[in-house]
Amino acid sequence: MIILLKKNANQTQIEHLKESLTSMGVQLNVSVGQSHTIIGLLGDTSRVDIDMLNALEIVESVQRIQEPFKKANRRFHEDDTIIELENGVKIGGGNFQMIAGPCSVETESQIIEVAQAVKAAGATILRGGAFKPRTSPYAFQGLGAEGLRLLSKAKKETGLPIITELMDAAHLSLFDDVDIIQIGARNMQNFELLKQLGKINKPVLLKRGLANTLQELLTSAEYVMAGGNEQVMVCERGIRTFETRTRNTLDLSAVPVLHRITHLPVVIDPSHATGVAKLVPPMALAATACGADALIVEVHNDPAHALCDGAQSLTPEDFAEMARRVKAILPYSMR
Ligand code: PEP
Ligand code: MN
Repeated sequence: MIILLKKNANQTQIEHLKESLTSMGVQLNVSVGQSHTIIGLLGDTSRVDIDMLNALEIVESVQRIQEPFKKANRRFHEDDTIIELENGVKIGGGNFQMIAGPCSVETESQIIEVAQAVKAAGATILRGGAFKPRTSPYAFQGLGAEGLRLLSKAKKETGLPIITELMDAAHLSLFDDVDIIQIGARNMQNFELLKQLGKINKPVLLKRGLANTLQELLTSAEYVMAGGNEQVMVCERGIRTFETRTRNTLDLSAVPVLHRITHLPVVIDPSHATGVAKLVPPMALAATACGADALIVEVHNDPAHALCDGAQSLTPEDFAEMARRVKAILPYSMR
């Protein structure tokens, strides 16, 4: 349930209302937006009398929320969430960023070379997988803890914040220096993992599952937020359809749809969506135009010999050209 307060609601009356709601056993989520204050009610609202609330002088309207996601819901929190990293880089609410780097961290020279190249082209966050979710148990599984150490080294060398995937909550202690934790498509509904992320104070990038709806994506984001960690971004990375010419099908309408129903930043991954390097720049441009808050793009200094996802990895030169075009169309973005 959400209670929209009148613009001129005074603070004493608001406090009084909050106390009386709390005494009914519901949890409150108060969002002070640019135009209105919204009080979101979480938990069992059966004792809350809607007619009584509507009759209060400071209440503009009361609505029941049908969707199973509340904290992630735009109706609960009208202003865009802005994720701010330790070095001041912001994502969301008009702040657009390019995240780039290899699928997997392979060697020190590889990650540092790629980090320097993507930074020079305008990327502000470095990606690189250390723990890799591979379909085959015989495929390269990532360097693990050593990969995280190399990412930290690249962060130190370039000043770029880092994002990498967490697959097992038991590894969390290794992620102290990581700026954004990625939860991959295959773990979007690993609810125990999501609950663990609710307990930490670090931004999370949650990728849409291969066959999940946007509502399910937001309900998974809600798992993290319900635990107390509200720094969540959601990422469309292509879904599985009957089409086989691309690795997945990029659902670009997810961008404007998500922006309507959630305040969380929306990120697009054109690399896993298409699986083909040549298709990445056009989709990255389209994603920018339709209002994505960030792009996450795979870049490798030697795609032909990459240990993972070489076919969809851009060379640093191709990334620089793509970044130039992205920056050119950014002022026309529908955001
Ligand atoms: C990745 O980003 O390297 C990755 C494995 O992505 P996804 O979970 O979207 O497949
Ligand atoms: Mn990959």
